[in-house]
Amino acid sequence: MKKVGMIGGMSYESSLHYYERMNRSINHICGGLTCGEILLYNVNFEPIRTLMLEEKWDSIGEILGNIAVLLENAGADFIVIATNTMHKLAEQVQEKISIPVLHIADCVALKCKEQNIKKVGLLGTRYTMEEDFLVKRLAENGIKAIVPSSREEIKEIDRIIFEELCKGKIKNSSKEYYKNVIEKLVENEQIEGIILGCTEIEMLIKQEDVAVPLFDTTQSHIDGIVEKMLEK
Ligand code: GLU
Repeated sequence: MKKVGMIGGMSYESSLHYYERMNRSINHICGGLTCGEILLYNVNFEPIRTLMLEEKWDSIGEILGNIAVLLENAGADFIVIATNTMHKLAEQVQEKISIPVLHIADCVALKCKEQNIKKVGLLGTRYTMEEDFLVKRLAENGIKAIVPSSREEIKEIDRIIFEELCKGKIKNSSKEYYKNVIEKLVENEQIEGIILGCTEIEMLIKQEDVAVPLFDTTQSHIDGIVEKMLEK
């Protein structure tokens, strides 16, 4: 089995899901007492969040790159960054190591392609929605991603992620807010599916909440990781 080096903790709420489901899935496939060979570096998110708000992305890249080096030296065969937003720094991390980074956008794009879906809505943090690091990577995979056009909506979606979901708070009012944004994307942009492009949104929005196929980056990433771990 290949060893995964996981950069987690952003947030720990979603890393819990990665950890649990990677193990369950491997055990389900392999049986017995088999579980995953996982090297987890749980990053303290608070100082990282401060650097994000100060727009000090080079410093964050340096920190994550050093962690990837540690994981490589500890024996990881490949690296995963268990958050969409930090894929803004995926190239910077990749440059520091000689093992591959399994990109979250490639994993979710594969799920869209399996269902022949090419035009999707994308929700995530404001960085993920306003910048092109995820949208571009999806486009390279043949997937056109559309984000909400309203500045207000982007701000509120982002606020809910950091003030509620990253702390494990699930509110009905926030669920209704997200559902409404998705409904508008379906109506106005004729999207064929919706990508939950933030690893915490799946805690709030489920397939039954939306009228189009839902693509969750957390589960897609986990499926991709497990496949790679069990690759011969
Ligand atoms: N986990 C989130 C994501 O998937 C947001 C937290 C972060 O900024 O890394 O984008």
